[in-house]
Amino acid sequence: MVRRAELFLISVLISLVTLAGSLPAGPTLPSGEPVPRYELRLEVQFDPSGPRFTGHERLEYVNGEGAALSELYLRLYPNSGLTYGAGALGLAEVKVDGTPVEPLLQSGGAIALIPLREPLPAGGELVLELDFAGIVPQNFASWNGSSYGIYDYSGGVLKLANWFPILAAYDEAGWHLDPFYNWGDAVYSETANFEVSITAPAEQVVVASGTELEQTPNGDGTVTHHYTAELMRDFFVAMSPSFRRLTTQIGATQVNSYYLEGDAYGGQSALEIAAQAVDLFNRRFGLYPFPEVDLLETPLPWAGGVEYPGVVLISDKLYGPEDYMARQELQFAMIVSHEVSHQWWYSLVGNDVIREPWLDEALATYSSGIYAQELLGPAAYQALRSDWEANWRRARAQASAPITAPLEQFYNNSIYYGIVYCGGALFYDELRATLGDETFFAGLQAYFARFEYGVAKTEALLAIFEEVAGQELDELYDRWLFAPVGSAHGGAG
Ligand SMILES: [Zn+2]
Repeated sequence: MVRRAELFLISVLISLVTLAGSLPAGPTLPSGEPVPRYELRLEVQFDPSGPRFTGHERLEYVNGEGAALSELYLRLYPNSGLTYGAGALGLAEVKVDGTPVEPLLQSGGAIALIPLREPLPAGGELVLELDFAGIVPQNFASWNGSSYGIYDYSGGVLKLANWFPILAAYDEAGWHLDPFYNWGDAVYSETANFEVSITAPAEQVVVASGTELEQTPNGDGTVTHHYTAELMRDFFVAMSPSFRRLTTQIGATQVNSYYLEGDAYGGQSALEIAAQAVDLFNRRFGLYPFPEVDLLETPLPWAGGVEYPGVVLISDKLYGPEDYMARQELQFAMIVSHEVSHQWWYSLVGNDVIREPWLDEALATYSSGIYAQELLGPAAYQALRSDWEANWRRARAQASAPITAPLEQFYNNSIYYGIVYCGGALFYDELRATLGDETFFAGLQAYFARFEYGVAKTEALLAIFEEVAGQELDELYDRWLFAPVGSAHGGAG
């Protein structure tokens, strides 16, 4: 007879042996947990009718979820409409461990259930292979007034957010297959390793997550760009013949500012702000671990900026000649520093951007406030804080969802911004005043260190500040974060 404890030990040993024999190449999480490894091939063609792309994906997946899985889920975001407009992403030749399988498409093709012939045990691994092809909408403004322009071809700039089938996030609640909305971000995904080759016409300047290892001319007017991105939770690609680059070094990180031809003044200004922000956030939050971060000026009709791992998009509407930019100096610095801080909050410390969007957005907004205080001075911070208060007051008159509510409870971008970004930043302002600088930043650093590459939850963030402060903060938390907001709210403003 084997006692239960011995059985447990045996099963641990078996799973250790299974893991040791079959770990995919590339780094694991600091906890030793394996991460998926994507090998992606992307080929982009520009026809007179617009850009098209085809690709191949090979995904090595080790089941680190602690439970057997009877299927996998892939998200095909470009089939979701909304911000992806008339875009599409199709699948073909799907194989699991070399055997063809028939994916079951759901939600208008935006979700693919990949059936497994037998359940994949915890620690078991498989290789998923598939071909894909995509269509990219053009000139967003003409077809969708709410597109961010993240999956789009306009003004000679091709942006490919979510161009490949990506694993849905999985946690103790199971697979996350939430829809998204016409406000906020769409993609909740987990840290993975990427090896990516991108073939495009030679005149295209390619900007992507990760680091470019080399370029290979193919002798037919195209070039293949080879990228690696380790421990990132998504892989973004953009290209245009009009991108120009300025660059500087902050510690071990190369900061690149790509701007559209003719906007060198804005490109230089963005580079300086981003470099200062990386330096400041390295000191305040913890070290950015990657060798590169890219800023990218691009047409974005309805957003000031959008964040991806290793790449930050900034709207071309904010760039211009010196006198134009001088009139909106604070706004430009706030948008650039907000988006740069998302490399810490969202990219490194992940969160469910559909169910707990405040985790990254409130902190990114407050991070731009830290930038204002330390780089621009107290008057700039006061101006920013007044702006947060005005937006927070305005939004509270229109909705009652608390700062920590899921995305679905905010009815549009303006309410969402006022409550989650501005109300959330004001919460951090009061939290910092309550705890003092030393304890407040020790809390942020502990949060970053504990969840770097992982996924944080609201409860854990709040517990860390109580732990570091050595005091209960329930009254502050309830008043700011959980009580319905409404106009009777007792918080600042
Ligand atoms: Zn943001």
